[in-house]
Amino acid sequence: MARILVIEDNPANMKLATLLLLNAGHSVLSATDAETGLILARSDHPDLILMDIQLPGMDGLAATALLKQDPATVAIPVIALTALAMKADQEKSRLAGCDGYIAKPLHYQELYAVIDSLMAAVKGSASSTTSSDQQP
Ligand code: MN
Repeated sequence: MARILVIEDNPANMKLATLLLLNAGHSVLSATDAETGLILARSDHPDLILMDIQLPGMDGLAATALLKQDPATVAIPVIALTALAMKADQEKSRLAGCDGYIAKPLHYQELYAVIDSLMAAVKGSASSTTSSDQQP
């Protein structure tokens, strides 16, 4: 399965996300702030990142924008997590470069479905050299 980096400052949300991912057979790296998450993304190159949008200090959108500007991390799919299930936030996360979007509270079916579809998309485009980051 996948190695997934979870960047989330809320302990209850982190615990839930970690549990759901481990139950699905994934391995989990975790960070509670964007700065630590960026370091882990560059050093450990996870297969996918779950990115809380509201973080202390640098927010998840700024962190995603940095990941998508860095050739070393641009290919890692980023799923935005936000409690603010508003159209404007979906649009903002898309503009920041997020590849997917999940509103909290986390529902396992939705989490697994988004991860599966992104991992399938990554495999499908593995031989492609496209630089497009406009995946739905
Ligand atoms: Mn948060």
